[in-house]
Amino acid sequence: MKHVLVIPGDGIGSEVITPTVEILSELVSSIDFEYASAGKALFEAEGFSISEGTIEAARKADAVLFGATETVYSSAYRSPVLDLRQKLDLFANVRIIRELRPNRKKVDFVIFRENTEGMYTRDEEQLPGEVITHRRISESACRRISEFSLSYCEEHGIGEIVCVHKANVLRLSDGLFVRIFREIASGYAEIESSDMLVDAAAMNIAMAPERFRAITTLNLYGDILSDLGAGLVGGLGFIPSANIGQMNAMFEPAHGSAPDIAGKGMANPFAAILSSAMMLDHIGFRKESEKLAEAVRSAVPGVEVDENGRCSTISAVDTVKRILFRS
Ligand code: ATP
Repeated sequence: MKHVLVIPGDGIGSEVITPTVEILSELVSSIDFEYASAGKALFEAEGFSISEGTIEAARKADAVLFGATETVYSSAYRSPVLDLRQKLDLFANVRIIRELRPNRKKVDFVIFRENTEGMYTRDEEQLPGEVITHRRISESACRRISEFSLSYCEEHGIGEIVCVHKANVLRLSDGLFVRIFREIASGYAEIESSDMLVDAAAMNIAMAPERFRAITTLNLYGDILSDLGAGLVGGLGFIPSANIGQMNAMFEPAHGSAPDIAGKGMANPFAAILSSAMMLDHIGFRKESEKLAEAVRSAVPGVEVDENGRCSTISAVDTVKRILFRS
């Protein structure tokens, strides 16, 4: 039996996670699900956005399935997803940018984003008339994201990877990252590796996304480039993600709680369902994971997704269920 902690969160987070868990429960009988709250609603009720008990439950679970939480712009509010990534040391964020809609340009690449430091240390200093943000880049974090991304490529038959950085300006910090990436990549002779400035990468992704197979990058660049990638393939509702650490793993759609469409039944659930397929693979249900991902690929052409990436959540979920469970 595997144990999964489900944190649906706010807004469309819970709208996409609830049907995802329904699908998982029917697909795999040997997972038990435990639920926990986090996010804005919890913060408004209790004054904290995630409890220590939930962090502990996440640590003990085989995996965490996370929806999304709404950002609260208050200094008292801590982002639950950042807390989980940092406290569970989920150092590698894997985001799959893949075109699933029919008759579109081929886009199929993975972004590996360093997940624990960079601009996300939340360490800002208010001084008279200015604010200083401390951005930390450590040798160990550069080493483990480089090692992780190269070995993922090796395991998944991906033959090329680009290290994306801004070492022409941030010579010490990003320079360290590129140097370590090159050193580790030299041990992977069968993977073609190169590096690119983040501004050039943004333009190249927009103009010729089919040239990319894998990108490894620092925290903020990874966040921005994955939204750019999402924009190319129909929106954030198509981008699944995994947060992987040495001991724990958390799976979540790359989108937020989307307060603008919450409660309207328009959230695209494919990112959440595909994230759960990544989770199944991670916890040892490879066959079921492939079956679920294949069902999503077959379902997408039959679901109407508008130019803003929205669709009927119910009809998208029903299409996946029909494909998966028809006798
Ligand atoms: P957060 O602060 O939680 O990241 P946000 O609004 O900045 O919230 P998202 O929630 O990711 O970021 O939403 C960005 C845009 O993408 C919004 O217009 C939202 O409606 C749209 N969007 C995000 N996810 C989906 C989805 N699953 N289906 C349809 N549209 C989505």
